[in-house]
Amino acid sequence: MRFQERFPSMPELPEAETLRQPISAHFAGKLLLSAIVGPHKEIHLTPPPDRMPLQLMVVERIGKILIFFWEDPVSALEYYLVSRLGMAGTWLILPPDEPYPSHTHLSLTFSGGERLIYKDPRRFGRLEWPSQKTNSRILAEQGPDILCISTEEWHQRLTRSSRTVRTLLLDQKLASGIGNIYASEILFRARISPFRKGRGLSRAESENLLGCAREILEEAISSGGSSIHSFRDSAGQTGEYQRRHRVYGQEGRTCPTCQGTIRKVRDQNRSLFYCPACQKRKGKLQAEVPPESFAAFPPQESETGFPDRVHPFSH
Ligand SMILES: [Zn+2]
Repeated sequence: MRFQERFPSMPELPEAETLRQPISAHFAGKLLLSAIVGPHKEIHLTPPPDRMPLQLMVVERIGKILIFFWEDPVSALEYYLVSRLGMAGTWLILPPDEPYPSHTHLSLTFSGGERLIYKDPRRFGRLEWPSQKTNSRILAEQGPDILCISTEEWHQRLTRSSRTVRTLLLDQKLASGIGNIYASEILFRARISPFRKGRGLSRAESENLLGCAREILEEAISSGGSSIHSFRDSAGQTGEYQRRHRVYGQEGRTCPTCQGTIRKVRDQNRSLFYCPACQKRKGKLQAEVPPESFAAFPPQESETGFPDRVHPFSH
């Protein structure tokens, strides 16, 4: 099996939310005593602050991005940690005596000795400690969260583009949170062909698409996300939503709605699943439009650099 086939998808909004909830519940209010970075500097866009301890106030999420809010308990200055999970990044709560798992790139030690670690075997994820949220390079690439965007803004953004609706769903600047797995599921539920263009959608269709997106993402959050590949939540549990996929990974099987056959096509180097009978193209076949680079966030060298030090993580 080709590598791309084994890892065609990245954590999406439900997986990020499934990570966020236990981290925020477990660590909010606790003091961060130290932050140790691993040797792969490309992951760390900026280094952790020297100032310690910092109190974790809350962990929030925009799309697939996690944002940790910290406060210096002495000066009341605010600090931020922004985490983009990339293809396979995850956060794990590590008990005090447990050794670091392989591919650990950041270890946060809290009062009481518990650690929160960032693990990323493929190293496409990025960590950033911006001085302000508005200075974040990661957040600058994000549009409004798909669960929060207004119906009007969604319609305007979707229908002014000549790109395909599937490409638009994956464009994190248009609205953030959807990746490869849920794009197929959402379009199937909305009965919209992935090959139609954004500007061809009616008001009713765009509203229905947004409604289906929210239904599916919220169902997936309730199920703990989709454990297609290696996804675990921060307590190490696998998700269950993959059992409810109607089209993703179902090529050649019978459509649960019409008894037709689910198809799989390669689209922009990703697998796309749909039912040609339920998701009809309207009018003439439309040529694919080259995608704008929704994932164009090239690995960048740290501007500030890190002191060379022996890292404690076992790789
Ligand atoms: Zn069908």
